[in-house]
Amino acid sequence: MKKYESLKKVELHCHLDGSLNLDKVSKWTRKNVGDVEKQLRLQKNGDMEAYKECLSYPKTLLQTKMRLKDAAEQLCKDLQNDYVVYAEIRVDPLAHTAKDLTLNEIVDSLLEGIKNTTLKARLILCMKRDREFEENKAIIDIAKKYLKKGVAAVDLTGDEVKYPTRSFKELFAYAKDSGVPFVVHAGETGTASDIDSAISFGASRIGHGVKAITSYDTMEALKRENIPLEICLSSNIATGLYEKYGDNPVQRLVDSGVSVVICTDNRTLANTTLTDEYNTLNRVFGFTINEFTNMNKLAIEHAFLSDKEKAELLKELE
Ligand SMILES: [Zn+2]
Repeated sequence: MKKYESLKKVELHCHLDGSLNLDKVSKWTRKNVGDVEKQLRLQKNGDMEAYKECLSYPKTLLQTKMRLKDAAEQLCKDLQNDYVVYAEIRVDPLAHTAKDLTLNEIVDSLLEGIKNTTLKARLILCMKRDREFEENKAIIDIAKKYLKKGVAAVDLTGDEVKYPTRSFKELFAYAKDSGVPFVVHAGETGTASDIDSAISFGASRIGHGVKAITSYDTMEALKRENIPLEICLSSNIATGLYEKYGDNPVQRLVDSGVSVVICTDNRTLANTTLTDEYNTLNRVFGFTINEFTNMNKLAIEHAFLSDKEKAELLKELE
C-alpha cells in the first residue's frame, strides 16, 4: 500500500472525461488496455495538441446514457479505492450532446451512476469560455434545476488567454441571480487578474489559481474573502505550466496563508490519484499527514454541502 493511501480524502476538482478507467474503456471499445492508455494518458508533458486529444477522445465515448452512467459509477468506485469519502465531479454537459442526448438526460444518467455507488458525490457542471453566452446560460439553468438534487455548482473552463475571465461578468451575474454557486478555473494559464475577476464575481473557490503567487493583492483578497485554491500539481506538469514539481508555488501559497486544497484535475490523463499527489507533496515539499488532514478538513469546509453534511463528513475523516 502506498503512503497516505488509507488516509480518508476529499476530492473537489476532478473531471470525468480526463479520469476514465482504462479497463472500462478497454471493455467499451474492445481495444487492449495498452492502446486505450495511449489515447487517454498524456505521453509527453507540455504537448498541448496531445493534451487536447486526450480530452476530446473520451467525449466521443460518452454519448449515450449507459456510457455516462457507467463512467460516473466507475469514477466513484475508483475514487473510493483511493479512500475518497466525498467528491465533486466536473462534467461539461454540452460535450455529450453529439448524439442528441438532452441536458436532462445527461445529468440524470450521471447522477444514476453516482447513486449506484456508496460514494457521497456531487456534480459541478462546466461552462466553456469559447461557447456562446446562451449555451453557457443553459448550463446555469440546468444546474439550477438540479441544485440540491445532485448538482452542486457550475464552473468555467477553457483558454484564459484568449477569453479573459473579466469578460464573463454578465454570465456570473446570471448565475448569482439564479442562486447557482460557482467555481472558476482562473490563474492557471491566465494571470492573477483572472483570479481577481473571479473573486469579484463571487466565486466560491478557484480552480488552480497558482498565478496568485505573482500578486500580493490577489493573495490578500483570497485570504480576506476566504476563498481556497484547488491545486492540482500533476496537472500543472502535464500541461507544461511547470517543468518540475518543485517549481509549483503550492508551498509559498500555503506559507503566505492562502487556503489550499489538493485535487487531481484529470486522474487518467495525468496518471495520478490523490494518494500520488500527497506523496509528491511529501517528497518534494515535505508536507506531512497533519497538513493533508487539515487540507481535507478545509475541503469539507468549502464543499458545496449543508452544515449538517459537513459535520457528518468531518466525523468520518477522524
Ligand atoms: Zn480542471
